[in-house]
Amino acid sequence: MNILILGNGQLGQMLGKAVIQQGHQCILYSDRQQQVMPLASDQPLPMSLDEAKAWADVVTWEHEHLGEALVEQTHDKFLIKAERFNQLTDRRTQKSLCDELGVPTSPWQAYQTTDELRDILSNCDKAVVIKSARGGYDGKGQWRWKPGQDADPIIQEAGQRPGIVEDMIPFSHEVSVVAARDHHGEQRGYPLTLNVHNDGILAYSMAGAQQFTDELEALAQQYHQKLTDHIDYIGVLAIEFFVVGEGEKQQLLVNEIAPRVHNSGHWTMSGANCDQFNLHIRCITGLPLPEFLVAPTLMINAIGVDGLPEVLWEASAADCHWYGKAPRPGRKVGHVNFMIDTFERGEKLASQWCDELIKLA
Ligand code: ADP
Ligand code: MG
Repeated sequence: MNILILGNGQLGQMLGKAVIQQGHQCILYSDRQQQVMPLASDQPLPMSLDEAKAWADVVTWEHEHLGEALVEQTHDKFLIKAERFNQLTDRRTQKSLCDELGVPTSPWQAYQTTDELRDILSNCDKAVVIKSARGGYDGKGQWRWKPGQDADPIIQEAGQRPGIVEDMIPFSHEVSVVAARDHHGEQRGYPLTLNVHNDGILAYSMAGAQQFTDELEALAQQYHQKLTDHIDYIGVLAIEFFVVGEGEKQQLLVNEIAPRVHNSGHWTMSGANCDQFNLHIRCITGLPLPEFLVAPTLMINAIGVDGLPEVLWEASAADCHWYGKAPRPGRKVGHVNFMIDTFERGEKLASQWCDELIKLA
């Protein structure tokens, strides 16, 4: 099959690798440069987007912030309806969808204007996170506020565009479920992944070491199925959750939904028989979904550094990925998967390597 991937960042490149593994062809579209690109090269192809779309049997994407015009131009080759796609790319409609389906999410209110945001904050007696409705990533497009703090600068900035005001959640952990749904409605999910963020950016993820109760695992898969069945979604979709409560009262609250492959699923490249990129390509090309066999894995993001230490390239239990991007503080430039035996070993490695691999400022 011929596959057009919208976006040509690292997720697009890793999807492309899976396309090759399964014997298909792909080209990518850089929405930033507005040019059609080959895999693993920054030399544009002499081809228009319309020509690329005509060549493709199916159009998929590496990120969901595609912009209205691009969705309009390409959606007839999406495997889901454009209105469903759009619903997933705006925090307001994502949250409404959760409310409508009875999937618990952190309490929220929407605002359109500076005045509406001011109104919400002046009636608010608890700490909140204010988030732009569209376009945020890696903690960008977010502001924190608590009673007693001067709200004006935040209102001026955040009020420029519509958004939501969300209760600050005192979570014990952050986790995500990365799972796929195929065109028969069949679902396959990896075990819950533990995610640790620094400054709103994912620092490291760990999975496969049976960190969570069966109940929590089942709940995550159940919420995933409910949401993806409702939108008749095909492909990999990730849901980020806050874990709240203790012991048997542990619960999951949806933080956000990412209708695509996800950074917290990168561990599957070394820790599963079928990684998330292969899983997505299987879904969109109609191959059967495998039963998973997973091994405990830690993934640490390389952020803002100008290379990975040589000892990691040499280490037998490390699987290094470098994206070939110019480093900037806070920019994801690679990741390293560590094969681990226990959760404790993973925590130890994370505390050993995060400082060296992550430069946020
Ligand atoms: P992004 O699209 O940037 O990933 P998120 O909504 O996931 O945006 O927020 C990034 C991070 O900020 C979260 O992973 C979490 O650590 C923190 N955060 C976001 N919302 C809340 C909240 N309501 N309560 C507590 N922490 C939050
Ligand atoms: Mg997030």
